[in-house]
Amino acid sequence: MTATTHILPDFDAEAIRSDFPILSREVYGRPLVYLDNAATTQKPRAVVEAIASEYYNENANVHRGVHFLSQKATELHEASRETVRQFINAGSTSEIIFTRGTTEAINLLAFSFGEAYCQAGDEIIVTVMEHHSNIVPWQMLCQRKGMQLRVLPMNDDGTLQTDQLSTLLNSRTRLLCITHVSNVLGQVNPVADIIRTAHEAGVPVLVDGAQSTPHFAIDVQALDCDFFAFSGHKIYGPTGVGVLFGKQKYLEEMPPYQGGGEMIDHVSFDHTTYNQLPYKFEAGTPDYVGTHALATALQYVSHIGMDRIAAYERDLTAYALSQLRNVPDIHIYGHAPGATTADDAVISFNVGHIHHLDMGTLLDRLGIAVRTGHHCAEPLMRRLGVEGTVRASLAFYNTRADIDALVAGIDRVRKMF
Ligand code: PLP
Repeated sequence: MTATTHILPDFDAEAIRSDFPILSREVYGRPLVYLDNAATTQKPRAVVEAIASEYYNENANVHRGVHFLSQKATELHEASRETVRQFINAGSTSEIIFTRGTTEAINLLAFSFGEAYCQAGDEIIVTVMEHHSNIVPWQMLCQRKGMQLRVLPMNDDGTLQTDQLSTLLNSRTRLLCITHVSNVLGQVNPVADIIRTAHEAGVPVLVDGAQSTPHFAIDVQALDCDFFAFSGHKIYGPTGVGVLFGKQKYLEEMPPYQGGGEMIDHVSFDHTTYNQLPYKFEAGTPDYVGTHALATALQYVSHIGMDRIAAYERDLTAYALSQLRNVPDIHIYGHAPGATTADDAVISFNVGHIHHLDMGTLLDRLGIAVRTGHHCAEPLMRRLGVEGTVRASLAFYNTRADIDALVAGIDRVRKMF
């Protein structure tokens, strides 16, 4: 164990790294420094083995089978729903809908909530810092129904102008959609306060938890959000699985999103009745191997402890910010020193006139994986006045040595220009 890895006395990042085989590989003959965790996280051995083990030992289609394997697979799938429920502290597994990811969860909501509650002249509020997947489905709903999309602006330091909420919220507002943590700025939005304000105006709230769920404990009942979406692959689980949480009172009233097997009660050519929650929203064979692997990932992080993960990552983020701020000509977006919002493990920056793509490509040659571009947040790029940024995003398996490598890499690239 090196001193640089040991930030919190009881957090052994080096031991944790050994659970992630890919972290010990090399790229271009150099040790991999993986700082693209906001795009997707690496998978611990336990998750990969859960997938292999289910295919080897328990594979059969779920819910409809009377035979042993089908019952085993169904048990694993439904136990996974309970694991998700506990992880975000939902009141009931009826409120946990499995989807392909955050994007599908929001599309499901935009369609189904739109059908149940929206009509011409109504309004949806989003914020200027949303990922495209929390903008475009709402735009599509607005186009379908003749509605208006309203946008909550932000200050230059990246904090939302929450004082503008009272002017945006009105009797035509049907839903407020907000990201918990910006995938570009890495700041934690004060969603609990925003939800309270929206509820005072009688407006329900969707929280996009794609970038919060991996970094700190989520309690949907304490937040009192009406809907919450997240992706399995961003929290050390497999690709292709995600979750939409919704309060039962809304889900009961919302119509199905897709038709097919599983979501029905009885079908005839004259009339079809729908299954109970949450199956009403889960047409077709679910990714039951994926849900089990997602539950394995949630158990893995829960075993480490989300509060310990949060403390370690906040410390690492503070270290990264302190080191990056010493880089000449660097511009870090958001993370204003002294800002009231918490810093999360995502840091976007540009250095002088070096194009973000050049920076990313040259860092890659040094074995350092960062993301460059607009990060699926073009309206936010426009607000920041840039075409794109370099984004380093951290996980609990990253260390101070990774940050040092990034800073040294940036320095090397800077000297080349
Ligand atoms: N919302 C946010 C804030 C994100 O960062 C992302 C992905 O980067 C998404 C939504 C979409 O997630 P997915 O592509 O897993 O559906």
